[in-house]
Amino acid sequence: MADHPRPPEPRQTDLPPGPSDADVIRRERDRLQLVVADLSRKIKSLEEQLETATTMTEVTPVIASRPELRKTLSSLVRRVAMIVQGEKCAIMLYNPETGVLEVLPPAMGLTEDQAKAFKVRATEGVTGQVFRERRSLRYDDAARDPRTIKDNVAFLHVRSGVTAPLIIKRRDEDEHVVDEQCIGVIHVFNKRGAPGFNDDDMRLLEMLATQAAAVISNAQLYIKIQEEKEQLEATFQSIQSGVIVINRAGKISLVNAAARQICGVSEADVAGKPYAEVFTDGEVARLLGDAVRHDEELAREITLVTPARGERIYQAQTTLIRGENGSTQNIVAILNDISDIRNVERMKTAFVSTVSHELRTPLTSIKGFISTLLEDQEEYYDKDTRIEFYQIIDEECDRLTRLISDLLNISRIEAGRALELVLSEVNLYELCVRVCNAQQSYTTKHQVVCAVPPDLPPIIGDQDKIDQILTNLVGNAIKYSPDGGTVTVDGRDDGDSVLLSVQDEGLGIAEHHRDKIWERFHRVDDNVDSQAVSGTGIGLYLVKHLAEAHGGDVWLDWSEVGVGSRFMVRLAKVPPKQGE
Ligand code: ADP
Repeated sequence: MADHPRPPEPRQTDLPPGPSDADVIRRERDRLQLVVADLSRKIKSLEEQLETATTMTEVTPVIASRPELRKTLSSLVRRVAMIVQGEKCAIMLYNPETGVLEVLPPAMGLTEDQAKAFKVRATEGVTGQVFRERRSLRYDDAARDPRTIKDNVAFLHVRSGVTAPLIIKRRDEDEHVVDEQCIGVIHVFNKRGAPGFNDDDMRLLEMLATQAAAVISNAQLYIKIQEEKEQLEATFQSIQSGVIVINRAGKISLVNAAARQICGVSEADVAGKPYAEVFTDGEVARLLGDAVRHDEELAREITLVTPARGERIYQAQTTLIRGENGSTQNIVAILNDISDIRNVERMKTAFVSTVSHELRTPLTSIKGFISTLLEDQEEYYDKDTRIEFYQIIDEECDRLTRLISDLLNISRIEAGRALELVLSEVNLYELCVRVCNAQQSYTTKHQVVCAVPPDLPPIIGDQDKIDQILTNLVGNAIKYSPDGGTVTVDGRDDGDSVLLSVQDEGLGIAEHHRDKIWERFHRVDDNVDSQAVSGTGIGLYLVKHLAEAHGGDVWLDWSEVGVGSRFMVRLAKVPPKQGE
């Protein structure tokens, strides 16, 4: 039904008929001007709101909406058709990306399909000519007129038509036109042929087109602003830092999703409420209160506890947004979670002190034994005792070397450099036996059992680094079994790789530490037993990187607090090429 030509709207009965009736035209034009003025006002107000929104001040609800604009455009095409005495009217806008003019819906007297299909290149037809030359045209016989062939207006079932350019003029303060831009054309069609539209109709349409162009350009601007606003909203909501905006009276303007989560605010819509009602937690309320009271920008570290996130440390900062007169309009508070940074800092401090301790202990022992031997001119100590002293010095030197080598490897990893492997064929069985014997020699409380089968296949790897992996794991198994017990090292062939396991009967590792033990500097400090064991918290971190460098992995296979643990290492038989 919609493709039936719609009759022109009836003229008002109290006015004399006739398209050239000056009163009707003037009235309609005035009405149209009112529509334009109204829309301009709405858009201006929206622009102002958006400007304030970008500086994070209070946003009042948007007055106009897109369906309203559609209504405005619909009444615009209807009025234009009525004034110019046309049956159909369509606005076409130029799409710079495609170089084609397309119908801006709603069009009057055209079905949706017709409107969609009506597309004309800017280089073709009456549409293109009017757009390019910025000059109106009219025609009486669309079917025969060579100019309209490319417009293909015949499929719209019309004979005569008049087309005017849609020109936006920008003026300076003195109302001088400083810029002109053609954004499209407006068509008015009739089914009837000659006499179709005359020159007066054409002038009239030109006049109306200028106003229509203003409406459309404002509408486009409005949509653009609206889209930008939505984008801004989405960005604001997706920021990971918590952002709270309040006005100077302490009423909330905005709270993003992250801030709601950080502060445990479940209610989504808190705009307009006093901040003290929403942020019941002392720290945030105090920060906002201080910023409002003292009218100054603050920065402080606050600790918040919520059921969802537990205890977290935040760097909180307030910024004052000032209006044109310099007075504070809004206060923006930004909360950044720095718990991890603080945690690493704390662990680093602990690390420095433990490393110093770990370095000093063997050095003190080495120095003590060497001094004793040097002072023993009288040969007070027998040969066996002296050998025992030398062995202790030797072991302590090994301990120092291991620690220094660990530290060097850590600094390589931290610097983002790959751990360089010196590859050769490694007999894992022999290596395991060696490590087990060495570790057994340091303890009398434990039995270090090497259950690795002698026929365990050799792999290509870095002998020293695999030694380091196993020494660390067996060393830990001994360290964290303060009451002694058996430490078993086992291994088996597993296709492309070899699996090694180190099991102990020691302290075990509580569930909540199992992921964290692989982080650098992380040490379990839940109980006095684990606290009593000296260590740096870098062993497992390094083991993981060393195993990965060998195309393998290491994981905690089993652990039970107070019962023991089993660590597993997988090493590829042939490690990946370095740098891959
Ligand atoms: P370090 O032993 O120097 O503290 P590691 O990185 O080797 O550092 O180990 C990290 C933490 O994991 C240790 O502090 C310890 O609490 C825990 N851990 C490691 N191995 C064992 C084990 N076999 N049994 C119990 N806890 C262990």
